[in-house]
Amino acid sequence: MNTEIRFPFSLSAIPLILCVSLCLSVLLMPAVTVGQVVTDTQFGAAVTDIRTLENGSQRTGQAAIWHDASDRAGLEDAQRALAAGDFQPLNSAGSTGLKKGSYWSYFVLRNTTAESVTLNLEYVDHQLIHLQAYAQRGPAAENSSFAEIARMDMGAPFATRPVFHNRFVVPVTMAPAESMAFLVRFDSEEAGFVFPSMRIWTPEQLNKVHTGETAILSFLFGGIALISIFALIVGLTTGEISFFAYFGYGLSKIVAWGTILGFTHQYVIQNEFHWSYMSAAGAVSILSGVIFDRLFLQTRKYTPKLDYIPILMIINAGVLLFSALLQIKAVALISITLALLLYPAVTVIALVRWRQGSSEAVVFAVGWTLLLSGLFYQALRDLGYVEHNLVNYYLPPLSSFIEMITIMAAMGIKLRRLRMQGLESERQYRRHLEQSKVKLEGLVRARTEELEKAKQRAELEARTDPLTGIRNRRSFLEDAALCAKRAVRKGEPVSLLMFDIDHFKAINDNHGHGHGIGDEALREFSRTIQTKIRETDVFGRLGGEEFALLITETKPDSLHTAERLRDNIAAIRLECPAGSLQFTSSIGVAHGDGLESGKADTVYSIEQLLRQADHALYCAKERGRNTVVEYTPESAGTAAETGRVVTGVVHPEPA
Ligand code: GH3
Ligand code: MG
Ligand code: MG
Repeated sequence: MNTEIRFPFSLSAIPLILCVSLCLSVLLMPAVTVGQVVTDTQFGAAVTDIRTLENGSQRTGQAAIWHDASDRAGLEDAQRALAAGDFQPLNSAGSTGLKKGSYWSYFVLRNTTAESVTLNLEYVDHQLIHLQAYAQRGPAAENSSFAEIARMDMGAPFATRPVFHNRFVVPVTMAPAESMAFLVRFDSEEAGFVFPSMRIWTPEQLNKVHTGETAILSFLFGGIALISIFALIVGLTTGEISFFAYFGYGLSKIVAWGTILGFTHQYVIQNEFHWSYMSAAGAVSILSGVIFDRLFLQTRKYTPKLDYIPILMIINAGVLLFSALLQIKAVALISITLALLLYPAVTVIALVRWRQGSSEAVVFAVGWTLLLSGLFYQALRDLGYVEHNLVNYYLPPLSSFIEMITIMAAMGIKLRRLRMQGLESERQYRRHLEQSKVKLEGLVRARTEELEKAKQRAELEARTDPLTGIRNRRSFLEDAALCAKRAVRKGEPVSLLMFDIDHFKAINDNHGHGHGIGDEALREFSRTIQTKIRETDVFGRLGGEEFALLITETKPDSLHTAERLRDNIAAIRLECPAGSLQFTSSIGVAHGDGLESGKADTVYSIEQLLRQADHALYCAKERGRNTVVEYTPESAGTAAETGRVVTGVVHPEPA
């Protein structure tokens, strides 16, 4: 895989995707009209007329806000500030922005109806740490004093809240035609942002809308939970580690959003809740998110140069987690800001991975950018650039949910790609295996042939006399036995001729040079016999200068052959330094008489024929050599008397 990082396309795509996401979220924002009915002012504050059915569309004013940077002012200080004209309109879309100290809001509500009304004033965010509300009944001119009507604290047991709601809600009851002035203190402890305008509801309306909100949130939470479980199952079945990380990421989202939106305090940790849990839950979510991103995008393997960014993000999330748990708010603030600033880098990495050919990375980039746009919007809201309304209030969890779905789709694409890769490598493996098999078969065949040849060679060597190249004794005995058997079956006669070169010792001795000339004589002898016999005749060297020949001929023919061969041998001339060398051979002949005796199943014993031929040969030697003597059974006495001499040519003694 190409690890080279190429930017041109991805860089141009980032702002494009970001813009599309942001435009989408802007389009989604309904124009929330704040139906302020301003009829009078008092200390610079708008007087809001209360109607019978307050449905959250009216808000307490932002016209008179006082920033107590010391964070220590009490009710009397606030009243003094009010009288001194220190309360000023808030110049923002709703948030004070990130500031130290507390904020005081002054506003007047006037019941314009003829009935007594009960109102719920709802603080529109979930991260406020303290809220104190004071009310002054009757016209200000009467100078009646402010009395505390609510005191809420993030760390206080949830049951102490006057209204059972995940956000701070102040209940107020107004008599018919009554006017009430309010001083409300908002405190986010140390540095934090505050939304000093509260929505005005009747309890029924707040309840109704809240039920709807809860239903939508349940859907989102349920969706994230289902996706997480699904990821876990896919992880278990595929063994793909990024699915497990995704499961963890999903769970951390549920915990983080549940905590940030106030539900953990409302339903889980009702008594010992601490604001730092929100940062801690957020840190865990960032941590598991980046761990998942890193695994999913395989940054270590494919974008090693960019891998430092997710590593830095993981370390930073760790710092955020610890600073939240140790309640070091300043460090937590820096850390969470850094975390948000680094978030877009993941989109960049995803796009680089896309450029490297990972199709799922672009879907991931879209999902991540959706999350980014939600967080971006939240940041704009918190900094006071965009108005606080339902859409941007729920945009972060909503975008987080959509991110979850989009990334699940990316995971699906990845799974599919991995499966295809698996199939392809399996195909390649099979092809390779097939090729190897063919190659191996070729090798085996070649090797078998080689071995076969070697075996044949070895067998031939084992059957061949090395000097003359004809059958050796063992081979002669085997082949002769076979030939004899075949002859019996066919009813053919056989004869065995046994040769012994005459005075061979003398050839060796008289012609010097070791056994050279003797060997040559043996070779020439073999060659001569071989050229004079038929292919089917069995010829071999019994040892030394003794040879044997089995032929399938009748007695007279065999004797004739013996004579002919004896002549041929005698005609051999070997050239040697001492001149031309000639030699002769004595021949003993024995006959197999199966045919003649009519016993077709007679098995000739070659050994027996050899003995008989040897006997005749002995006679031939006795009779003076260079002679053919036939063995006859009726004359098996001493050789000298019994052998029937076929020829009586006596070779002269060699010189
Ligand atoms: P005869 O006529 O009685 O057969 O006399 P001969 O000398 O042929 O008989 P003998 O058996 O005494 O001698 C055989 C000789 O053959 C002895 C040996 O040195 C020689 N010989 C045996 N094998 C070989 C061989 O492979 N090469 C050579 N050059 N000589 C051999
Ligand atoms: Mg001999
Ligand atoms: Mg001899």
